[in-house]
Amino acid sequence: MKFQTPNQQLLRYIAISILLVGTSCNVKEASSTNALSSSPNSTSSASLRWNSARFPLKVYVANNFDLSEKDSNSRNLMQQVQHNWNEADSARTYFDVSTEYTVANKEYTELEDFLDSEVGIYRASSWFSFIGSGVLAITSYLAEDRGSYREMLHADIIINDEIFTFTNDTTDNTSAYDLPSVMIHELGHLIGLKHTTSSSTPSVMQPSLGRHDVQRSLQAYDSVAIRELYNATFSISASETLAITAGNKPRYIHGYMELRADGNCVHYQDGKVVEVHQVKVKSN
Ligand SMILES: [Zn+2]
Repeated sequence: MKFQTPNQQLLRYIAISILLVGTSCNVKEASSTNALSSSPNSTSSASLRWNSARFPLKVYVANNFDLSEKDSNSRNLMQQVQHNWNEADSARTYFDVSTEYTVANKEYTELEDFLDSEVGIYRASSWFSFIGSGVLAITSYLAEDRGSYREMLHADIIINDEIFTFTNDTTDNTSAYDLPSVMIHELGHLIGLKHTTSSSTPSVMQPSLGRHDVQRSLQAYDSVAIRELYNATFSISASETLAITAGNKPRYIHGYMELRADGNCVHYQDGKVVEVHQVKVKSN
């Protein structure tokens, strides 16, 4: 048995009583009448966001990623895309890009096991069997229902390293996907954004990414969307604390959002891939 900190034990306890919902999304080629972000759970359209006091988030990147390429401001590729989100909003700073936060890679078979004290970005060399193989990456999150919105308490990004290869080279014409483009999308989820609902809207939050697509900068839609999310006023109906007390148990929600590969991927054309999203209720 592995050692767990009290915080991990708390999160593990929470994980026992969660409702696991998947936010599924269809393929780029799907007709526009198909919902891009549908879920069997009707309440899943609630806004997701962090308490702003948690910002700027320190995002720990697995040290087996190669993101070392620096820009003229000495920001590595991860810091560059985080900085792009920061630039979208003059009222708050979403990510701490003051230094590089790294961590040893973590590989688990259950998403709940990632619920620890570090918001991280990891590589899965063995992809989760309950998520479609056509999924490039997911953002897994833990949130608490606050009535009119869901407060994010933890999130991680996990890259599908089993099926796909990733590159930092924008001229790469192999089958690799642009890693910073995947990251800017997942970081949008990490701070609460869902997918763009119209395939004609330029956005890094489109639900799919093609090989050779390079989208490392935000579109106008993305900047507006993140500002609107955090400028919105929600009524708060539950305690701000993580305390779990008998008879007043907060409701935690664990879900994930995925980024799909385009239809050129052979794995993606597996018909089963689109059908993997089902509500999975954990007993408590
Ligand atoms: Zn996504």
